[in-house]
Amino acid sequence: MNLNSIYKLRLFKTPFAAMALIILLVACRQEQEHSAEYFVFGTTVEVKLFGTSGDQANQVFTDLQQMFQDMHRDWHAWEPGRLTRINQSFTDGQTSLADETIVEMIERSQLIEELTEGRFNPAIGGLIRLWGFHTSEYPIIGPPPGQADIDEILIHAPSSRDIHIDGLQLSSDNRYVQLDFGGIAKGYAVDLAMEHIKELGIGSAIVNAGGDLRAMGGHGDRPWRVAIRKPGGGVIGALEVGGDEAVFTSGNYERFRQDKLDRYPHIIDPRSGWPVADVASVTVIASEGVWADAAATALVVAGQSDWPQVARALELDQVLVVDETGVVYLTSKMAQRVRFSENTERVIVGPGATIDP
Ligand code: AMP
Ligand code: MG
Repeated sequence: MNLNSIYKLRLFKTPFAAMALIILLVACRQEQEHSAEYFVFGTTVEVKLFGTSGDQANQVFTDLQQMFQDMHRDWHAWEPGRLTRINQSFTDGQTSLADETIVEMIERSQLIEELTEGRFNPAIGGLIRLWGFHTSEYPIIGPPPGQADIDEILIHAPSSRDIHIDGLQLSSDNRYVQLDFGGIAKGYAVDLAMEHIKELGIGSAIVNAGGDLRAMGGHGDRPWRVAIRKPGGGVIGALEVGGDEAVFTSGNYERFRQDKLDRYPHIIDPRSGWPVADVASVTVIASEGVWADAAATALVVAGQSDWPQVARALELDQVLVVDETGVVYLTSKMAQRVRFSENTERVIVGPGATIDP
């Protein structure tokens, strides 16, 4: 790639100190690739477009900057904004005004919560805050919250299904409902970005949020190639993606609370109120980011014993699970697609292992 053709570098100052949006456009004439990077949702989002003009790429990248900035402002679980106002209204027993994206995420979550029998539940923001996970600074140091505080929330069983939606108006009889879209927002953001790219008539693109991504078309005459992250660093293997599909990984290795030798990861089982640490990571391929993202989180909660059953309920046939010892379990359809790194030790493929959905 000819880096001499970098033609633009812009820095944006935003009202949110935590969010510096950086756009870096790289045009590579021979390969017709244009790319941009944004820092949003605590991660770098890289967008690559293939086979489009510089002017069109410019338009897409400028539009996406605005879109990501709006999502950050409206969906943030603890920085004051639209979602924190909505959560305050639930606490106060009042009605509040959402926007279409939040309504869509609630509706999608209601279905996924039902299909996963409560393992995915974005209404447990109260538990996530109690565990100290409303922060960008990891690891968090210190003991877990008291069981009485956990129980107080569990007794009220907040659920996305407790939310009444009337147009853009939200209300709930359950004052313990607190929305946290951390398990689904990245997937939905990637979907909205890809929809916009499609609307502008571009057929080949990848939107990659720190390894969680959606890709369509290809990179010229070859498919997009992506790595599957390994818990604790490195890669398990590589995949070719294209057509139009999303690949998302959830894990318990990056964000956690540390109390002496005990580790409490940031994914919480809504039924026990405690973090789950049964599997190290789950990777899901689905047609939409929103589904792959929420599913990966739900399958981490499902753990070793239940993930095949929950994958079936979500109609997923491409799933890869890494257990705490590094053993990889995967569905046969996923096995056909992954090229494993040499240092990946043991791989178990269904259906013989009764794990194949
Ligand atoms: P992900 O990295 O996509 O697995 O999302 C993890 C984030 O989702 C956490 O940081 C929380 O904000 C949120 N979360 C944690 N546990 C759950 C759960 N059981 N259901 C839905 N969202 C959750
Ligand atoms: Mg997720």
